Amino acid sequence: MSSSKVKAHKVHLLIEEIPTIEQMKKSFLDLYDGWKCPSCGLEDETFDHVWTCDEHRSLLLKIKNNTIDLLLSLLIEYNPDITDYSALLMLNIWTISTDPDNFTFVDLIKGFIPLELTQILNLWIQLLLVIIEIRQYIYEQTFKEIWIRRCSFIKEFERSLGITKKKKLTLKNFRPFNNILNSDRELEYKFDALDSIRNNIYFGKNIIEFYSNLTS
Ligand SMILES: [Zn+2]
Repeated sequence: MSSSKVKAHKVHLLIEEIPTIEQMKKSFLDLYDGWKCPSCGLEDETFDHVWTCDEHRSLLLKIKNNTIDLLLSLLIEYNPDITDYSALLMLNIWTISTDPDNFTFVDLIKGFIPLELTQILNLWIQLLLVIIEIRQYIYEQTFKEIWIRRCSFIKEFERSLGITKKKKLTLKNFRPFNNILNSDRELEYKFDALDSIRNNIYFGKNIIEFYSNLTS
C-alpha cells in the first residue's frame, strides 16, 4: 500500500471515519438501510463496534496479548534492569472496550498514545523507539487481521448483490420523486436497481445465511 494511502487510513482511524456500514448509510441510505455489522449481523456497525464486535474478540485479544509481549521484549532489550512490570500491565489501555472516561485498547487502535503509558515507559527507557514500534505493530495487525478481512467480506457480499462502485455513484444522493430525474426510463432503472438490491437483502438471501455460507 502506498504511503499516502497508509497516512489517509491512519487519519481516518484517528477521526473514526473508516467506511463502516453506519458511515456508508450517510451517503447511501437507500442502499444500506437495515444493514447490520457484516461479522455478527446483530449490531449496527459503528466505528467502535468494528473493534468491540464479539466476532472479533478473540482476534483482538490475540493482537493485544502479542502487543504486550512485544512491548515487554523491547523493554527487556533496552533496559534489562526492570523487574516489575505490574504498573504497566495494570493500565486501562489493555481493556478491549470503549470507555468515555479512560483510554482503552480501542484508543490505541485509533493511534492515541495515552500519557499514562508514556509516563511509565519514560521512567525506564528511551521512549520514542518503543512507542513507534508498538504503534506500528497495533496498526498493522488490526488493519490486516480485522479491517481488511471485514472489507473483503463486504466486497464479496456486495458483488453477489450486483452492487458495484458505478452503481453506488448512480444511487448516491438519489431520492425518489425528486426533480433530478427527468426521464421515465431513468426513474424506472433506478427503482429496479434499488428493488432488486432490497429484495436480495430482505427476502432473497438472508445476510447471516450468506455470511455463514461464505465462511463455512
Ligand atoms: Zn458485529
